[in-house]
Amino acid sequence: MNWLDGLRAKILFDEPLSRRTTLRVGPRARLWVEPDSLSDLSALLKKAKSRHKDYLVIGCGSKLLIKKKAVALAIHLNSFDFKQCRIEQDELIAGAGLSLPHLLKTAYDNGLGGLEFLSGIPASLGGAIMLNAGVSWPARVEIGELVRELKVIDKSGVSKTLDKKSLRFGYRHSNLKGYIIVSARLKLLRGRKKDIKLKMKEFLDYRRRTQELSYASAGCAFKNPEGVSSGRLIDLCGLKGRSVGGAAISLKHANFIVNTGKASSSDILALMDLAKEEVKKRFGIALEPEIRII
Ligand SMILES: Cc1cc2nc3c(=O)[nH]c(=O)nc-3n(C[C@H](O)[C@H](O)[C@H](O)COP(=O)(O)OP(=O)(O)OC[C@H]3O[C@@H](n4cnc5c(N)ncnc54)[C@H](O)[C@@H]3O)c2cc1C
Repeated sequence: MNWLDGLRAKILFDEPLSRRTTLRVGPRARLWVEPDSLSDLSALLKKAKSRHKDYLVIGCGSKLLIKKKAVALAIHLNSFDFKQCRIEQDELIAGAGLSLPHLLKTAYDNGLGGLEFLSGIPASLGGAIMLNAGVSWPARVEIGELVRELKVIDKSGVSKTLDKKSLRFGYRHSNLKGYIIVSARLKLLRGRKKDIKLKMKEFLDYRRRTQELSYASAGCAFKNPEGVSSGRLIDLCGLKGRSVGGAAISLKHANFIVNTGKASSSDILALMDLAKEEVKKRFGIALEPEIRII
C-alpha cells in the first residue's frame, strides 16, 4: 500500500526536474505531487511529517538549481484551488500557484495597477513572495510592499493567516521559511488601463533590452552587493562568454548564467564558483548567490 493512498492529488513518479526548472537542469523527483485542495495539502504534509519525509516546494522553478542527486518529494500548487483570483475593491486575492503573467492580466483587466514592475518575470505568486521578487530599475520595488495578508501552511499541515505586521521582506528575502504560501491579498492601485498597459510595456522593453532571454536561465545568478551590480563586477573580470560544459556566462548580461543546451547542475555551479573567485580576487567582494541552490 502506498503512503499517499487516499490523497486527492495528481501524482507523478520519477519526474525529471529539468522539465520543471527554467535552467532546464536537475535530478528526478521520486514523487511529484499536486494536491487538489488546501485540505489535501494539509493531509500530505501530515503524512510526510509522520514518515520523516523532507519535501521541496517548486513554483515555476525560475530561481532553482538543484544539485542533490534526487528529490524525495516535490510539492507543486497547480490545481484550480491554488490558482483562483478575485478582486475586492482595490485588493486582489490570489492563489500562490497562479503565474505572475496571469496575475498581471487579471489586475490589468480590472483596472488595477501596481504590479507592472513584475512584467516578464516567469514566476508563481508563491515563489515571487517567498523571494520578494522585484526590480531595481528605475527604482527598487518589490512585491513584498504590496502584500497585506498571506494564507500559509506549516510543516505540520496547520494553516494560518499572517497579516502585514508579522511579515518581513528584504532584498530577495522573506521571513516565510518553513511555510508554504497558499494565497495572498495584495493592495493595488486603481488606474487607467491604458496607463497600466504602457507601464507594463516599459518594464518589458527594459527587460528585453538588458536581460539574456534567448537561453534558459534562472535570472540573476548573484545578488547585487550594496551600491554595485554583480553583472558589472563579473564583466570587469573579463568573464562574459566564459563556459564550463554546457553552461555559459551570458554575453549580454554577465550576471546571467545560461544553459546553452546540455548543461548540468555542476557546470552551472562551477561557473558560479569561478565568478565568485574572480570577483573576490579582483575587488575583494564576496558575491552571494541569488539562485536557490538545493
Ligand atoms: C528570465 C528570468 C528573469 C527573471 N527576472 C527576475 C527579476 O527581474 N526579479 C526577480 O526578483 N526575479 C527574477 N527572476 C527570478 C524568479 O522568477 C524569481 O526569483 C521568482 O520569485 C521565483 O518564483 P518561482 O515560482 O519560479 O519559484 P521557484 O524557483 O519554484 O522557487 C524559489 C523558492 O521559493 C520557494 N517556493 C516556491 N513557491 C512557494 C510557495 N508557494 N510557498 C513557499 N515557498 C515557495 C521554493 O521552495 C524555493 O525555495 C527571473 C527569472 C528568469 C528565468
